[in-house]
Amino acid sequence: MKFIAGNWKMNGSRGALKTMVDALRDIETDNTVVLCVPYTMLGIDGGRASMGAQDVSPHAKGAFTGEVSAEMLQEAGAKYVIVGHSERRQYHGETNAIVREKAAAAIAAGLTPIICVGETMDEKQAGKTMAVIESGVRESVPENTNGKIVIAYEPRWAIGAGLTPTSAEIAEAHTLIANTLHNMGIGGTPVLYGASVKGNNAAEIMSIPNVDGVLVGGASLKPDDFIPIITSVK
Ligand code: PEP
Repeated sequence: MKFIAGNWKMNGSRGALKTMVDALRDIETDNTVVLCVPYTMLGIDGGRASMGAQDVSPHAKGAFTGEVSAEMLQEAGAKYVIVGHSERRQYHGETNAIVREKAAAAIAAGLTPIICVGETMDEKQAGKTMAVIESGVRESVPENTNGKIVIAYEPRWAIGAGLTPTSAEIAEAHTLIANTLHNMGIGGTPVLYGASVKGNNAAEIMSIPNVDGVLVGGASLKPDDFIPIITSVK
């Protein structure tokens, strides 16, 4: 059984989400399916899919104009929340320390954070991929996870670019993450791969050791693109 999450980013509409939910209703799969949508689309019953958000405040409540707390997400029907997505790290200056606080806030409210880590092209070219991944995991995962986290390895240079690392590179990264989580006492935590996953590469990627599922951006927006990914694996 695999874990397949869609990240709609700032795309879609409530109508498009209802179309997706209807299309997912009859698919035959045991896989876990999650749709991480803009805040305004939470509250719609995901049916076969669990709902998730794409960011959360590290604060529980108060004078933080524009922010949304984990408890509010939970009340709106979210079960998951992406934290530390590369676009948050790039455009909003989120560091591992901030990501860790957000993940802790999510866990405290009963949500499962999907914690993203991954290297930039500069870091890759400087030979720092493994170091960035390991420190990303060690520094972004809160102390008490309650068994309620998911990690997503997303090479930042490959997101939305139609590029993917080689299978050997994905295997190396995922083995490192699995070992790091084991050493932190939380072995068995699901680890997803994300960046340019499509219907034609999903099964191969999910057959790589230690890849427990995928986080899908662009190809999660339309049923015709997303469903083949979900049904490509048992
Ligand atoms: C993402 O943004 O999390 C992602 C994986 O995007 P894409 O699939 O479009 O590369």
